[in-house]
Amino acid sequence: MRNAVRKLHEKPLESQSRIVSTRLVSALLKVHSRYRSPKLGKMVAHNIEGLAPPQKAKFCHVCGTHEWTITHHGLRALLPETIEVIAGPGCPVCVLPAADIDQAISLALNGITVATYGDVIRVPATQTSLQEAKASGGDVRVAYSLSDVVKMARKEQKRDFVFLAIGFETTAPSTAVEILNKPPKNLSFLVSHRLIPPAMELLLKIDGLQIDGFIAPGHVSTIIGTRAYEAFPDLHQMPTVVAGFEPLDVLVAVSLLLKQLREERAALENEYTRCVTWQGNTKAQQLMNQVFKVVDGWWRGLGTIPSSALVLREEFEAFDARTKYDLKIRDSSDSVPGCLCHLVIVGKISPPECPLFRKACTPQSPKGACMVSNEGTCRIWAVHNEGN
Ligand code: SF4
Repeated sequence: MRNAVRKLHEKPLESQSRIVSTRLVSALLKVHSRYRSPKLGKMVAHNIEGLAPPQKAKFCHVCGTHEWTITHHGLRALLPETIEVIAGPGCPVCVLPAADIDQAISLALNGITVATYGDVIRVPATQTSLQEAKASGGDVRVAYSLSDVVKMARKEQKRDFVFLAIGFETTAPSTAVEILNKPPKNLSFLVSHRLIPPAMELLLKIDGLQIDGFIAPGHVSTIIGTRAYEAFPDLHQMPTVVAGFEPLDVLVAVSLLLKQLREERAALENEYTRCVTWQGNTKAQQLMNQVFKVVDGWWRGLGTIPSSALVLREEFEAFDARTKYDLKIRDSSDSVPGCLCHLVIVGKISPPECPLFRKACTPQSPKGACMVSNEGTCRIWAVHNEGN
């Protein structure tokens, strides 16, 4: 595990003006909200160039939307060769265990209506997917929101519905709200929510990953607040910056991380102040705490991460599909032979290093979970023709 900010510079910064410009750009962004301004982009790129260390520095984000912004806008091409930005486990569909989908499939094939978010139905599970279960006659429905599923269940009272609830701290509050609103008795929940900070902790323990700073996810942070990342600089001496999703948000975050490295300090900074506060959304946190308790959880490609999953509290057991249908965890397999999603998901390799990338595994015919969702690193790289 890392326990000190790595010394990447031999000399102090020659020009303070380059550091000042990061602050200046942040101030200009706040005033003018020009998060795609080429002029400001050039200023930050220049700033990054001036702050870049002679040795390699590796920053890790944990958000599929950050990966989309970085790849779509070609931000890696703006970075000096010594700066690498890798994608961590920030795609909820990519980390969804095959075992949970297997359970949903068995319900769908036994007369229960299974509803979930669109991308999930294409994710390969142990033998098949929810999409294939639907083709075999199972009632699998794509939901745009959980409230739509509640409406369906109220309308079709003779059917039993199960909602496969996935996602991070961003979607867990809406599951909590619907449960507290007393959903109809014919609706229960297969809860597979996961928490981001414990996954970031895990990344620090992976041999050879050598991360020099975190770009923390903006939308998760709107819920949990900046304070949720305090341990990273305080206990792990890991520079951490919460960032938004516009190209300049990400570039400014890289610039702030570089400044911390240059000054050999680890701090927690918030680039996304227009949405994220120190406390976060305390109402949403309270709703989550009321409905869920935190337990160890299995992540596809990563294994068990301590205190990283949410399950329903005992008082909401009546809504727990695992209890209601006595669902057991059976032998399951998270990947097909040759799939390297477990390495892509922690940024150990980039998608083109997987032999199946854009050959056997494509967005039209995904073999691994990272190729399914618009937040999956392999799919993002494939649709942007990245890595050629
Ligand atoms: Fe997994 Fe496909 Fe990506 Fe390979 S290319 S790591 S099989 S998603």
